[in-house]
Amino acid sequence: MNDHDYRNTSFKNYDFELGNKKVEFLEQFFAKHPRAQNHYTHVNEKSSDLNVLFREIYFHKCAYCGTNIEVIDSSNFEVDHFIPKDILKQSIPHYDFNYINSILNLVSSCKTCNRSKSNFICNEEEVELIHPDKNKLKNLFKRKEDFSIEIHVDYAKNSNIENFFKKLNLDSQQKRIEYLIMEMKDFCKEYEDEENEIISHIKSIIMQIENKRRKLY
Ligand SMILES: [Zn+2]
Repeated sequence: MNDHDYRNTSFKNYDFELGNKKVEFLEQFFAKHPRAQNHYTHVNEKSSDLNVLFREIYFHKCAYCGTNIEVIDSSNFEVDHFIPKDILKQSIPHYDFNYINSILNLVSSCKTCNRSKSNFICNEEEVELIHPDKNKLKNLFKRKEDFSIEIHVDYAKNSNIENFFKKLNLDSQQKRIEYLIMEMKDFCKEYEDEENEIISHIKSIIMQIENKRRKLY
C-alpha cells in the first residue's frame, strides 16, 4: 500500500480525488460561455478567471509531477490534452473534437510535463491508470528519500507505465529540485508562527537554490 502521494510534500497532503469539481467548474463555465463546445479555448486563456479556477481543481499543482505555483509561476502552467489533439488527425472513431477539447480530457500541467508528454497516447486500460482524474497515479509512482520519483514496484513490469514515466522525465533532476524547493517552502510555512533564525536561514537557502535553478533551466 502506497499511501503517500508522490506529488505531495511531507507537510501538505492534497487529495487528487476530483469528486464533483469538474461538474461545478462547468456550471461556472457555462454561465460565461453558454454555447461553447470547445472548453479548451476558454480554459486556456491565461487572463481568464476560468484558467485560475481550472488550476484550482488541481490545487495549483501539476497533476503529473506535483510541482506547484509556489515553485513555478502561473505562466509555467499549461492546459494539457490528456488524449493529445494530434489524435484527431488520425480520426480514431472513439475520439471526436468535442471530447478532445472537453473538460474531461483537460488536465492542469506544468510546462515541462506538458511539453515532454507531447503526443503520448495509451490504450483504454492504461487511461484508467494514468489519467490524473482517475486518481490512480499516486499508486503508480513513489517519491524516494532523495526526492527523485520512481515507478512503484507493483507496476515495474508495465511497459506503458514505463513509457509514460520516461516520456515525462519524471526522474529528472529538475523534478527533484522542484520538489526540494516545495518541501522546504512547506516546511517554512508549517513553522512560520515560530519565526526564528532557523526559518530565516532556510528561506535564504531556498532563494539560493531558486537562483541556481533559474540558471540551469
Ligand atoms: Zn509537471
